[in-house]
Amino acid sequence: MTAHRIEATTAAPAVATGPAHVAVTPDTGAILPKDTYTYAVPDHLVSLAVPGARVMVPFGSREVLGYVVGVDVALAGVEVRQVADVLDEPPILGAPALQLARWIAARYCAPLGEVIRAMLPKGVRSARPGGRKRGPRTTSAAVEATRAHDGAVAEAALPLTSAQQAAAAPLLEAVAARSHRRVLLHGVTGAGKTEVYLVAIAAALAAGRQAIVMVPEIALTPQTIRRFAARFPGRVAVLHSALTESERAREWRRLRDGELDVVVGSRSAVFAPLPRLGIIVIDEEDASAYKQDRIPRYHAVDVALERGRLEDVPVVLGSATPRVETYYAAHTGGFELVRLDERISGRPLPPIEVVDLREELHAGNRSPLSLDLERALRECHDGGGQSILFLNRRGTATVVVCRNCGEAVTCDSCSVSLVYHADRRRCDCHYCGASRPLPDICPSCGSTAIRGLGMGTERLEVEVHERFPTLRLLRMDRDTTASRDAYFTIYDRFANHEADCLIGTQMVAKGWDLGNVRLVGIVNADVSLHFPDYRSGETTFSLLTQVAGRAGRGDEPARVILQTYSPQHYAVRHAVTHNYLSFAREEIRVRRALRFPPYTRLVVCTVNHREDARAEIEARRAFAEVSDKLGAGSGLDVLGPTPAFLHRLRGEYRWQITVRGEAIERAFPHLPHGRGWSIDVDPGP
Ligand code: ADP
Ligand code: ZN
Ligand code: ZN
Repeated sequence: MTAHRIEATTAAPAVATGPAHVAVTPDTGAILPKDTYTYAVPDHLVSLAVPGARVMVPFGSREVLGYVVGVDVALAGVEVRQVADVLDEPPILGAPALQLARWIAARYCAPLGEVIRAMLPKGVRSARPGGRKRGPRTTSAAVEATRAHDGAVAEAALPLTSAQQAAAAPLLEAVAARSHRRVLLHGVTGAGKTEVYLVAIAAALAAGRQAIVMVPEIALTPQTIRRFAARFPGRVAVLHSALTESERAREWRRLRDGELDVVVGSRSAVFAPLPRLGIIVIDEEDASAYKQDRIPRYHAVDVALERGRLEDVPVVLGSATPRVETYYAAHTGGFELVRLDERISGRPLPPIEVVDLREELHAGNRSPLSLDLERALRECHDGGGQSILFLNRRGTATVVVCRNCGEAVTCDSCSVSLVYHADRRRCDCHYCGASRPLPDICPSCGSTAIRGLGMGTERLEVEVHERFPTLRLLRMDRDTTASRDAYFTIYDRFANHEADCLIGTQMVAKGWDLGNVRLVGIVNADVSLHFPDYRSGETTFSLLTQVAGRAGRGDEPARVILQTYSPQHYAVRHAVTHNYLSFAREEIRVRRALRFPPYTRLVVCTVNHREDARAEIEARRAFAEVSDKLGAGSGLDVLGPTPAFLHRLRGEYRWQITVRGEAIERAFPHLPHGRGWSIDVDPGP
């Protein structure tokens, strides 16, 4: 009998005789008016229809899949239908998983059915018992990277520095005591944080426990995976988006069956079905990828903290640039704070040189490379080094405008301009994916004076090639990594020095530890600075710090050149001096003055409609109703209604209202729901 089964049964004592009625959450894929429905359990299924099990139940005129989420009582006089079949033995969800699902549903005001759907891989949810379908036998590079070490002798741990030992101490204590603790490991890039995680995980494994390691999708590099796989050969599962559905289901089953002990994965790895969890590690805790951008809109860090609490295990958050919310929590008692202030072996952080692009423009240089950056590139490559050029925008031109009438070519379905991709001679919408050929004449006035403005990675590649024809270039962005293993291939080629210069978006900013990178050029530091979001300063600071941190990891001295139009902006200034503390202090003052998190919480409710006027009317109606229900003295403000930042998206207009305050849960029962509405608690990233 597995631990799962035992936990599930202890949570539901009625199972001994069997519940006569159960609460079932149907998995219909649609948002239902209620989270659970009551069903009677026929005698022959009584021992199987326990909490966590998948069942088939009649729903309307159909029979649908559902999950037993609890024992229920039928109300007198109400006729209930019967569970038709039970699919799993033991139940697919253990008791802690069910508790976690309930917590997520409550915290994010999300339908329980949607939460459970998000927790289970599709291939597991929809699998019929018995003749298990065999997936295709191809294996993605991500899985290959873990398997490569199967059967090998474990790579030895590095002896920790004294700073690392001090950082590891609270984790080792918590692992030994099997107690829940929350630790923030704040350490500069290259400080040896990963080594600390590895030691804590090794301790958990030695004690017969298991571990979850979460990294942002873009940091889930071959290097990261191999590092864990080499340390724990044959015991590592990888869960991320490059896996096929069948691979994902296979890894999930192996974990559930206790065959593997360490999960390395992105956001959804927080739901990995480990029966003997001993520690949760979240690297780069500030990554926006931890916030799920569709229902249920959970934040994986918060979910991990709750899972740690429910299962009595320590949770460690690591970052060179923690969110100021997290840092604030560390200072107000929510976390223990441990720090690694220096790079391993005392290698300095690379100095960052600032180039003011306004001056460059005055001097008549319109190239994306300032004279300084161009010279630095030449010197770097003459000396046999490699370089990374970071530009957080893909495509050729970021906007196509008519010089006659000034109109930009925009998406038919979204209120954004299309991005021009020269290699395909097409204009793409980066929000909905719509694509059309580059128009020869202006759609508004018929003029032929059409031109692209703004620069993306694709154009940068062309410009760099023109200036440095012998340089071997690689580009990494969403366009070049569309195929399954492309990310791994590009990474490996760069790591093996088959290319000199890598041009990339934020995909190259995190996690890479390559010794020969002697120059990082930040082509435009301002891309994320003016985004209408209260986190834009933090996002920018963090991206700049992270990408600068890719340089200077080897023995050769390294340079970082940062080009900006806003050298005086606090996010840029503090990134340039590598000063997280000054940045955090300034950022926290701004948050307090403007009443943003961590000083308050937010819920954004967005309504979509094909007609702008209808969306607006619905938003106004909801605004009036929520304001009325909450009333003065609730401690909550209702703000809006306003058009959303992307007013039009995929052909629908969007309006929103925001509720702000500390106890936002009080607003949940009154929030608008039903057709067209979506609710985002603690909106991301
Ligand atoms: P971080 O996760 O903080 O960016 P890493 O753990 O990746 O840092 O460490 C940076 C580099 O230093 C890696 O190449 C790693 O192998 C090396 N390193 C880490 N800890 C030690 C140690 N105790 N002794 C020697 N090298 C170490
Ligand atoms: Zn025109
Ligand atoms: Zn679009």
